[in-house]
Amino acid sequence: MSRKALIAANWKMYKTPAESKAFVDTFLPLVAGHDRDEIALFPSVTSLATVVAAVSGTNVAAGLQNMHFAEEGAYTGETSASMLKAVGATHTLIGHSERRQYFNETDDVVNKKLHTALKHGIIPIVCIGELLHEREAGQTTAVLLTQLKGALAGISPGAAHSLVIAYEPVWAIGTGKTATPEMAIEAHMIVRAELANILGSSVAKATRILYGGSVKPENATALIGEDEIDGALVGGASLKPDSFAAIVKY
Ligand code: PEP
Repeated sequence: MSRKALIAANWKMYKTPAESKAFVDTFLPLVAGHDRDEIALFPSVTSLATVVAAVSGTNVAAGLQNMHFAEEGAYTGETSASMLKAVGATHTLIGHSERRQYFNETDDVVNKKLHTALKHGIIPIVCIGELLHEREAGQTTAVLLTQLKGALAGISPGAAHSLVIAYEPVWAIGTGKTATPEMAIEAHMIVRAELANILGSSVAKATRILYGGSVKPENATALIGEDEIDGALVGGASLKPDSFAAIVKY
């Protein structure tokens, strides 16, 4: 089955609204008419409305880097699914390793956020991946299965049609170290087999599994060019329009 690749830019805590707008203005002409892959930008929350307006009517989507699971309430500093949708955004990251590491986001929280995103028709990119010491201890498969089962608890196959998974080995994020295509493919096959166990084989075949971890123009073709790798989640190399456009057009 052919899955349309998704190339996503995680800008983390970079770029003001003016800087985000300048990025989009330079980036859009570079990817105009590119419909082989889907493209999504994940700016900071203060730049989201600016980016949504700037990409409106183009082949580029916009989403949040994080979203709360509650509908609304006393959750200072958080953003709800309705707020995301009211701004016109369509996607959200869930469970990025930096959220897990610095903000104590657990598999249970990831699961609650996924339920909320799917309920609201928001396209979720659920991030999973092992730490370096876990890989070195031979625990990669166990970690991926635990995170995946935790994220998908109570999710029905019918609700999961928009689900996207990002396999992001934590040791490769922002470090310049990249998983080899063989390592990424092996992890993706483990994830897809478990998706089949949990959600059935047709959902597993249709679900995009992205790779993330120091993707750059120089290694994009070797990774995203693989059938088993359905796109990329890109941090550092997505901050410059020419570098992100080169990855999109790998
Ligand atoms: C990320 O933020 O998800 C990421 C993969 O970052 P980087 O590309 O910088 O490793």
